[in-house]
Amino acid sequence: MPLLVVGSIAFDSVQTPFAVREDVLGGAAVYFSYAASFYTSVRLVGVVGEDWPEAYTDMLQRRGIDTSGLHVVPGGKTFRWRGKYLPNMNDRETLEVHLNVFGEFSPTLPESYRRCPYVFLANGSPVLQLKVLDQMTDPQLAVADTMDLWIREEHDALLELLRRLDGLVLNDAEAKLLTNEENLVESGYKVLELGPQFVVIKKGEHGAMFFSEEETYVLPAFPTRRVVDPTGAGDTFAGGMMGAIAEEQAFDPATLKRALAHGILMASFTVEDFSLDRLREIEREQLDERMQRFQKMLAF
Ligand code: AMP
Repeated sequence: MPLLVVGSIAFDSVQTPFAVREDVLGGAAVYFSYAASFYTSVRLVGVVGEDWPEAYTDMLQRRGIDTSGLHVVPGGKTFRWRGKYLPNMNDRETLEVHLNVFGEFSPTLPESYRRCPYVFLANGSPVLQLKVLDQMTDPQLAVADTMDLWIREEHDALLELLRRLDGLVLNDAEAKLLTNEENLVESGYKVLELGPQFVVIKKGEHGAMFFSEEETYVLPAFPTRRVVDPTGAGDTFAGGMMGAIAEEQAFDPATLKRALAHGILMASFTVEDFSLDRLREIEREQLDERMQRFQKMLAF
């Protein structure tokens, strides 16, 4: 089943304690689409400037990603983000954000996108996320991501969005900020009270927590020794999770738990190199093989 995603498309500059990369391909929607394309067909909604190389569009299309919702703004500049990781390789500092064409992005969805049953509103302004949701005809499952910037600066729009979502994915610090609650478990329940049927709290190297009315659980991260660049881990987690849901065409509790595991494994590959470099090296087979090891690891 097709899966629609809207979000940032970026050139990222990333500094880790060990290496630096300038202007590499990134953005929440790019990471998400690539990860989800291991499982299902993806319809991408995003915006880029004149500086966007056509070769990137070709690369996404070769993954079966529909780019008819990709807007190229003549004379415009693509979104740019610069970040620096602390020595623990988990916490990061945003050094620069240039929204550029993403700042004024107000998409009109192609007709073929509007009936997409699965929707992911990747990191971006909740005003933009709502605009996209408004154009969808009765999606079966609408899930979003958010971040501190929007929690602080577009709080009311975010609360409106939450009332209309089926699921929310966010990290631990964001969940605490959104709910004003230091206890993470309590925070998960408080997010549920804001509207969504389920909430996934990402905890970086410590995995992810799931909350719904029926159940709460934690899945650990897959232990990988090679952590080169964590950028995109959260977005590819969501891509793996939503991709698996779209592939199985279900979101009952057991499917959701499996989908979370797919997200965790996708993220574990992403962090093994910069940008999409590691994901571009692997095939579905390697994901499946890591899934078997993950299941074995968790059986006792
Ligand atoms: P993640 O590491 O999964 O949390 O996401 C990193 C990606 O988010 C990078 O590729 C950035 O380009 C993108 N990003 C950073 N800040 C923003 C923002 N304010 N809005 C949308 N995307 C962003």
